[in-house]
Amino acid sequence: MIAQIVFALILVAAVALFTRNIRRIARNIHLGKPQVINDRKAERWRTMALVALGQSKLVARPVAGFFHILIYAGFVIINLEVLEIVIDGLFGTHRIGAFLGGFYDFLIGSFEVLALGVLLACVVFIARRAIVQLPRFHKPEMKGWPSRDAMIILVTEIALMCAFLTMNAADHALQAHGADHYIQAGAYPVSAAIASTLNLTNLQPSTLIQIERGAWWFHIVGILAFLNYLPYSKHFHIILAFPNVWYSKLEPRTQVSNMPRITGEVKSMMDPSVPPPEPAPARTVAGAEVPERFGAKDVFDLSWKNLMDAYSCTECGRCTSECPANLTGKLLSPRKIMMDTRDRAEEIGQVIDAKGKWEDDGKSLHTRITDEELWACTTCNACTQACPVNIDPVSIIMDMRRYLVMEESRTRPALTGMFNNVENNGAPWAFGPDRRMEWTQE
Ligand code: SF4
Ligand code: SF4
Repeated sequence: MIAQIVFALILVAAVALFTRNIRRIARNIHLGKPQVINDRKAERWRTMALVALGQSKLVARPVAGFFHILIYAGFVIINLEVLEIVIDGLFGTHRIGAFLGGFYDFLIGSFEVLALGVLLACVVFIARRAIVQLPRFHKPEMKGWPSRDAMIILVTEIALMCAFLTMNAADHALQAHGADHYIQAGAYPVSAAIASTLNLTNLQPSTLIQIERGAWWFHIVGILAFLNYLPYSKHFHIILAFPNVWYSKLEPRTQVSNMPRITGEVKSMMDPSVPPPEPAPARTVAGAEVPERFGAKDVFDLSWKNLMDAYSCTECGRCTSECPANLTGKLLSPRKIMMDTRDRAEEIGQVIDAKGKWEDDGKSLHTRITDEELWACTTCNACTQACPVNIDPVSIIMDMRRYLVMEESRTRPALTGMFNNVENNGAPWAFGPDRRMEWTQE
């Protein structure tokens, strides 16, 4: 009974903490500007089924894709087992699902095979990072916490799978002993081999119960702890990948969105009967007024979808490994753009948590992302094409550039002449529109 009470308390605390952190991240995402995305629903569901559920973009790199699918399928399906563990933990039962008979045996057997697959995949992923030293995992933005985070995730998954198999191996041996409470249920293709290799049946039932209970507690407490680690980790993508893909951009990748206010200004300039657009009123975000800006100075000027992108980033670096700017030695890394955006949203969230409202800290997104990075982008969209969860770093880059040009008059020297020409001549060339046809007369 005491074990059940302790388990219930741990479960309630873990769920409460996780809910609090989810609300914090949702609040941070909504620091961004409102944007309505609910068009072409059938296409959105199809894209989500293909890209998020089917992992279609991951298999563009078959080896990594195969192992990722193994981890993804294994982790999702094995977690069905968690449902049984939770019920058993709350009600003091053991293998409550055993009434399913042969189907239960099939489930437990499949979980074990998948657990072994997850273990193998995690070992391969650790080797890719630590031994093979894949370049995309060793770019400057991956130094320190991002690399540690990736290792923590992989080692934790290995530990959880080991606990799961140990628990089953001890259970299998206890079933062979005919121990009380350990009913004959389940099929154990992997853990039976472990039990036999380690001669577990030679151990006393009391020792086996200690091993089984120890692994059971480690497994479930580990899962609940891991759940609460997610909001602080790139692994949060397992929560956001699906909605992020659903809300992803369906227009052609290279289509650049117009700024409605500027479009209105141009229309009014071309046709004096069209009144110039009214400036949008300032938004109130976390108790502070955020004025309308041209482009993006800070996360408040990006859309909520840009911020959801940032929280969905898996830091896999596929975007950076395809980026022509990065490949030719420029500072720009689209992965870093997403990491910086998320870190800035987190930084603002921490100020709001500490002070109860947003107070300007004198920093902005531009404190983290330099002009040099922004201007290195060719807008080729190789990054958006490569991203396995349809993240769009280019729209953030474009909005930050717009801010530089329109609010700060900060451009690259090579572009200054072109911008002046656009402003004075309505075209990038140094000739007025009245001289546009002169070439036909030569
Ligand atoms: S769009 Fe920009 S950031 Fe993305 S791959 Fe091309 S150059 Fe790199
Ligand atoms: S933006 Fe996409 S491709 Fe780039 S690191 Fe993040 S998840 Fe990977």
